[in-house]
Amino acid sequence: MPHIITQSCCNDASCVEVCPVDCIHPRPDERGFASAEMLFIDPQACVDCGACIPVCPVDAITTSDQVDERNAVFVDINAVLAAGNSPTPVDRPSRLQVHEVGPLRVAVVGAGPAGLYAADHLLTETGVTAEVTVIDRLPSPWGLVRAGVAPDHFTTRNVTDVFRGTASRPGFAYRLGVEVGRDVTHEQLLEHHDAVIYAYGASGDQRLGIPGEDLPGSHPAVELVAWYNGHPDYADHTFDLSAERAVVVGNGNVALDVARILAMDPERLAGTDIADHALEALRASRVREVVVLGRRGVDHAAYTVPELHGLTQIGDVRLELDGPLTPSADLDAVATLKRRLLADGVAATRGHDSRAIVLRFLRSPLEVLGSDRVEGVRLVRNELVAGPDGVARAKPTGDVEDLECGLVIRAVGYRGKALEGLPYDDARGVVPNENGRVLGADGSPLPGTYVTGWIKRGPSGVIGTNRHCARETVDQLLADARAGLLAGPKSRDSAGFESILAGAAGPVVDREGWDRIDDAERSAGEASGRPRVRFVTVADLQAAAGV
Ligand code: NAP
Repeated sequence: MPHIITQSCCNDASCVEVCPVDCIHPRPDERGFASAEMLFIDPQACVDCGACIPVCPVDAITTSDQVDERNAVFVDINAVLAAGNSPTPVDRPSRLQVHEVGPLRVAVVGAGPAGLYAADHLLTETGVTAEVTVIDRLPSPWGLVRAGVAPDHFTTRNVTDVFRGTASRPGFAYRLGVEVGRDVTHEQLLEHHDAVIYAYGASGDQRLGIPGEDLPGSHPAVELVAWYNGHPDYADHTFDLSAERAVVVGNGNVALDVARILAMDPERLAGTDIADHALEALRASRVREVVVLGRRGVDHAAYTVPELHGLTQIGDVRLELDGPLTPSADLDAVATLKRRLLADGVAATRGHDSRAIVLRFLRSPLEVLGSDRVEGVRLVRNELVAGPDGVARAKPTGDVEDLECGLVIRAVGYRGKALEGLPYDDARGVVPNENGRVLGADGSPLPGTYVTGWIKRGPSGVIGTNRHCARETVDQLLADARAGLLAGPKSRDSAGFESILAGAAGPVVDREGWDRIDDAERSAGEASGRPRVRFVTVADLQAAAGV
């Protein structure tokens, strides 16, 4: 029976590297990889060797005869994606290098997937000797894998096993609880390292720019997601869940995560690692209908096939579409698949009466209504017009309506922030760079300074996309090292750098300290039948680390 890739696919393409018959696509060297919604296995080419199963970090691969009911539709999804695929290789420079490099001292700023994949590439590259110190402002690592992935997506969090492997490699060190700009400057990092790779993500949010956006009860998704995942910055936030209807603006995967968490029976989350304060609040929630607004049409939504399927797998929640799916010509394989999943999801959940997620397309919010808190949203119906690039754009008609609700979540994208000492492109919310080399004001590379992940390319792609993004950045860094373009640190003695960190605002957590936090959270989880029980304040994390 051919193998298939299922819902939790993280696109890191470890499976591609071990496939002996090249039946998994798109490969990182094929066009479309960076924007792929998921990878798939061509059922005609698969020889059932099973080599891909153990290397998948998120247990997404199985055989079509062993797939569970929840993932059964992925037999078809793999076949449909394979049928619509025509692999086109892209030109990539050869990575074959003969010069030995090192020892290199590299600081990585940001302990999320992008930073940890970069660390892993440096520590595993043949011919390279490196010491990598991964810095993060929180006492805990893993970035959005810890603070972004929705708690009901527990298999996705298995990717942390990869990060544990990276952290146990010789030459790796964590320095957690250290904030660049507060505790150490960019110049100090460069003085003590051959290179610095910034991987600090995109922790801000895009604004809607409409009246009422900042009324109490209107929040960016960034805050709600961080809150239910126990991020210390948001642990004491409150969200008013007392009204029956919530509105989520945006049509990406974050919008669907938020809609699911708000709509589903909280008892389904009780066995996950959701933050205790969020579980308690969701248990008391009166929200019964979540309306998700897409400004463009059903065929333009940014959410991916696996996440759309996930929307129909949350128990007693009815999926509703606002209006019929009118036929449309010239749809590609993915758009056709999404229409089918939507139609099937609506049919399969009809009759689930207690809770609902309603997808409304071609609607934009004009104003968040309310005098001293959110009471509703004024919406305008849009029509689609082709932009100069041929891409469909939303154009408001005069057709306006008010929708009552008590909570508005703005899930219209994350946004990178500037960091002191680094250039910043405010229009794009990224650090200006060429393939990961940070560019100065005159457009030339800043020696020894690199970026990877969302602060390099913007908030796009799924977890594994960062593995290949980091590969590109590390390749530039190593090319510069081979070409003698890294000035090198003033001192290779780590004591000088450690003495700077000793003056940090709070105690520094190293790998052993993080292991103690991790063990304590997991032991507490084991005792209550959950993967972990999270510490949600910096003080509690530090106490568990023993610092
Ligand atoms: P996203 O995928 O970029 O989606 C943003 C959505 O907001 C789009 O539907 C966009 O519509 C809409 N939007 C933007 N400005 C708007 C406005 N002014 N009014 C109304 N709608 C507006 O961003 P995201 O959902 O934050 O996700 C970020 C990245 O994380 C994505 O790559 C996503 O796949 C990834 N992620 C993955 C998972 C997962 O794999 N499980 C989970 C969460 C996030 P237009 O298309 O019309 O611009």
